Amino acid sequence: MSGLITTIQRMSIHDGPGIRSAVFMKGCNLRCWWCHNPETWEFNFQLQYINDKCLRCNDCIKKCEIQALDTEADGIRIARERCTLCGKCTKVCPSGALTMIGEQVEAEEVVRRVEQDIIFYEESGGGITLSGGEPLMQLDFTKKILSLCKAKHIHTAIESNLMVHPKAIKALLPLVDLWMCDIKTIDPATHKKYTGVSNERIIKNFKYIINNNATVIARTPVIPGFNDTEECIESICKLIQDLPVKCELLGFHTLGFDKFCQLGLTNLCSGLKPLTAQRLSELKRIFKKYNIKTTHENI
Ligand code: SF4
Ligand code: SF4
Repeated sequence: MSGLITTIQRMSIHDGPGIRSAVFMKGCNLRCWWCHNPETWEFNFQLQYINDKCLRCNDCIKKCEIQALDTEADGIRIARERCTLCGKCTKVCPSGALTMIGEQVEAEEVVRRVEQDIIFYEESGGGITLSGGEPLMQLDFTKKILSLCKAKHIHTAIESNLMVHPKAIKALLPLVDLWMCDIKTIDPATHKKYTGVSNERIIKNFKYIINNNATVIARTPVIPGFNDTEECIESICKLIQDLPVKCELLGFHTLGFDKFCQLGLTNLCSGLKPLTAQRLSELKRIFKKYNIKTTHENI
């Protein structure tokens, strides 16, 4: 059983408890404006061009048999509508300016790499985190990785947008020790505008996993102009207040912005400034008012 991933990030301390290996899987069914992993959006390879690394040698242009590459005033222009993602240009690029994002890998190989750090998981209370992208879009692959990890007593966590069929969630419930799920806003219309989908199914699935005794962290990325108002955060608190979940408010930052340009994507948040620590603290106080436990970290 194989699947498509972008990378396995070892020694992560931001993807669940303890020291973890985060496996970033390709393919996502949402298009959140503030996404900082747009290289995981497509369930396919994606060609990345980093202008700052480019030596202007034009070796890539000579290698591309279908003339999808050309020079422009400041570097290389990619005609992405023609590119077949063959990867030949990336093989001749001497500086790593052109790279193909994506690796087709067996589930056993993922677990082989992850278990190299098993000693750190045991010491720190960490384990594996499947992230993305949306891991449940590669359900059989995800299931296989989690089953193998369970057999080796590695703690399993998953970051899911929950915009999937309940059957997919049901299939994973026995294999996931910790679910980390975004509750971005309660209002379906706003959710649809900024992510591409309404949130009815997400909230239904959120309640479903909790009712099935799953351990859940609800995460709210706080995005200026989208959900950074008192009203919006209060409505999330009202959903969560009586549920046995821990919550995290994650402050919007701009670190992933360069990737949009490098992948030929439009960044709809390009004008936004990072959320200030002060504003995040103010909103965090609302969670305290509702007796909801939160942590304080950046996305
Ligand atoms: S991936 Fe292949 S088709 Fe696309 S630009 Fe590179 S060489 Fe050309
Ligand atoms: S091969 Fe690499 S370094 Fe040379 S022009 Fe193309 S992208 Fe730039």
